[in-house]
Amino acid sequence: MKNNFHTHTARCQHAVGTDEAYVKAAIEGGFDVLGFADHAPWRFRTDYVSGCRMTADEWPDYRRSVLALREKYANRISIRLGVESEYFPRYLDQLRRMRDEGCEYFILASHFLYSEEESPYTGRSCESEEMVRRYAEQTVEGIRTGLYCYIAHPDLYMSTHRELTPACMEAADMICQAAKEAHMPIEYNLLGLMDELRGRPRGYPHAAFWEYVRKWGNDVIIGVDAHDPSMLTNQALWDAGINRVRNLGFRIVTDWK
Ligand SMILES: [Zn+2]
Ligand SMILES: [Zn+2]
Repeated sequence: MKNNFHTHTARCQHAVGTDEAYVKAAIEGGFDVLGFADHAPWRFRTDYVSGCRMTADEWPDYRRSVLALREKYANRISIRLGVESEYFPRYLDQLRRMRDEGCEYFILASHFLYSEEESPYTGRSCESEEMVRRYAEQTVEGIRTGLYCYIAHPDLYMSTHRELTPACMEAADMICQAAKEAHMPIEYNLLGLMDELRGRPRGYPHAAFWEYVRKWGNDVIIGVDAHDPSMLTNQALWDAGINRVRNLGFRIVTDWK
């Protein structure tokens, strides 16, 4: 099976292409399952406006569009409706509502600490021990809600670190242990790998992180994290990701329990 559950849409303001273009690319790329998991449409309590996700008002259109594509391409590819979501305790009821409205899965991603209203993107700011610890705690708390299916780019917090500091190691251990206990796969992220191969590394997947967590033997899922349909036809990128994970000795899974 060749499955990808991590696909964005132009609604998030930093992806390109129509929803249908992602489906056509996934068919061309030989995928059996294409899951859309655009960034969560949080309805913030404050007047904060996010620049990296659809608005809450766009959720019904996203849902309708994905479900219509599922019908249209039913005999060619299996399409799933999901969301890539932070764990923001104060807004957890919004995830439950989306689930009740047909969202089939949530990918856990700690892009921001506490809430996006309060903190910068962790991929550029998780430098202090305090932030690294909070990243780990928040991710573990998210895992334990039982609402999420797998963990996107668990090493996002490593983006601003060259080496694993003791705090970074502790965070890696906390996340991988909790994932293992919850039988949740961790993701090897192909958006990060693509940029690394193009000479513009994002800092994840982080080689030292993946080397360090081999001891946990987590199940690993490949996530394309497609922000452009062409990522789904990039067979060399897919193969490179599979090879990296295999060479590290992890078991690759294509779904979750
Ligand atoms: Zn994105
Ligand atoms: Zn992400």
